[in-house]
Amino acid sequence: MTTTMPTTWTKDAIFEALGLTDMNSGVSDGAFFPHPGGPELVSEIPATGERLASVQQGDDADYDAMMATATKAFETWRMMPAPLRGEIVRQLGDAFRQHKEPLGALISLEMGKIYSEGLGEVQEMIDICDFAVGLSRQLYGLSMHSERPGHRMYEQWHPLGPVAVISAFNFPMAVWAWNAMLAAVCGDVTVWKPSSKVPLCAVAVQKITDEIMARHALKGIFTLIVGRGKDVGERINNDPRIPLISFTGSGRMGRHVGECAAKRFGRTILELGGNNAIIVMDDANLDLALRAIAFGAAGTAGQRCTTTRRLFLQKGIAKQLLERLVKAYGTLPMGDPLEPGTLIGPLIDAGAVKDFEAAVARAVDEGGTVLAGGKAVAGPGHFVQPTIIHCPKQLAITCEETFAPILYVMEFDQLDEAIEVHNAVPQGLSSAIFTTNLLSAERFLGPNGSDCGIANVNIGTSGAEIGGAFGGEKETGGGRESGSDAWKAYMRRQTCTINHSTSLPLAQGVKFDI
Ligand code: NAD
Repeated sequence: MTTTMPTTWTKDAIFEALGLTDMNSGVSDGAFFPHPGGPELVSEIPATGERLASVQQGDDADYDAMMATATKAFETWRMMPAPLRGEIVRQLGDAFRQHKEPLGALISLEMGKIYSEGLGEVQEMIDICDFAVGLSRQLYGLSMHSERPGHRMYEQWHPLGPVAVISAFNFPMAVWAWNAMLAAVCGDVTVWKPSSKVPLCAVAVQKITDEIMARHALKGIFTLIVGRGKDVGERINNDPRIPLISFTGSGRMGRHVGECAAKRFGRTILELGGNNAIIVMDDANLDLALRAIAFGAAGTAGQRCTTTRRLFLQKGIAKQLLERLVKAYGTLPMGDPLEPGTLIGPLIDAGAVKDFEAAVARAVDEGGTVLAGGKAVAGPGHFVQPTIIHCPKQLAITCEETFAPILYVMEFDQLDEAIEVHNAVPQGLSSAIFTTNLLSAERFLGPNGSDCGIANVNIGTSGAEIGGAFGGEKETGGGRESGSDAWKAYMRRQTCTINHSTSLPLAQGVKFDI
């Protein structure tokens, strides 16, 4: 394992470039609160276990003050023409572009993904800004033909209100941007509660955002509160002023947030855990499959919602592909995520390492055989070996998401059989098939094929583009974010009928003459 320090970005250089300090306020309603009332939160560097910096969390009073600014800001923001809102989002995108490198480096430092992926995450923020700018002129409603003479019918989309974004640790910036940029052009204001494991990333993004908004004398459009789930999280879950919560995180927490919101008729966009699989057919291009599997399963140290966790190999190619995969796993450079050349960074914390160890032990207990990795790495930081476990069949553990680089491999004879096992898990996020046979590809994409929100052919499960709607089925939560028509979730639909005649005919021919 390589342990040398980064050659390019140091912690000091990142802090200087982003205006961060050793102790940062974690609450902003457009301007950072000088003294939030919540407890201090220490953020750690997962690659070393060292302290990174502290963030002062918000308390109840801070939440109320922030919400007061946000709800007031909504009154004016919703009246601004959408293309003008889009122009402000364009400027945000430019600001993220200017800060792309230090932001990417901060993601690597605080979350632990490799620098290239950190940069990719910031690029995703920039891309979604561009997408949202175009969208600001395309918030289309339909018009319908009325059955009544002299009547016109159409639907229009109005802003919804303050939207809460509760984000997971593994995409500490992009998840906010996916939601906040669309919400902004739709006329909503956003309240962001980031994961307590990566608060500094949120503070850095908020600082840049505040600066752009201040240029327009706008406050409260994008607000931030770092706080504990049981305090701030629960306030959001149960706040009737928040018509929509976009929650990204574990299935367990998402279920709770969904139940709280449903009780008050609030809406949710739930982006929860995945248990993604790749099916490789005998006729597949194995070079492509190999790279996609390695990136999907070991990349980001297995900490993507779209990480490849199960691999189904048709028996004709199983042995040779597995041998190549095990060999490739042996060469993956592990170490400091900021160091060029590193491909495998650390897990987020010691708890994640324990979960990894427990899952490997359970898999072996249930009949699996470890072919590569399987162990935590001793020393500073939270590193584990990327792991391949051969399983005789679907096991109880392979139906669960463990947020670590563990790949369960199973073999099959016929595609029908593989698809059945593929779908026999509670989650339904991302899926892929490698084949050069059109019939197999279409079988996989058909109504009785993959039951996931994302289904790919000859590319892996990981690394979606922002242009498509992103999300999954079943216990993944059913939410959709980002591209396509995902914007509709951030608005309320209004159906309007206008009578421009001099009579009042009733629909369905009903008579009620007085
Ligand atoms: P998590 O569920 O532990 O935390 C998610 C968020 O919930 C954090 O911001 C946390 O502070 C907050 N929270 C905690 N208690 C709360 C409460 N009582 N009320 C409201 N919010 C509360 O998840 P995590 O470990 O940060 O992220 C990993 C999980 O996220 C994985 O399961 C992964 O698959 C999932 N994920 C899904 C997607 C997707 O798009 N489907 C994307 C990224 C991550």
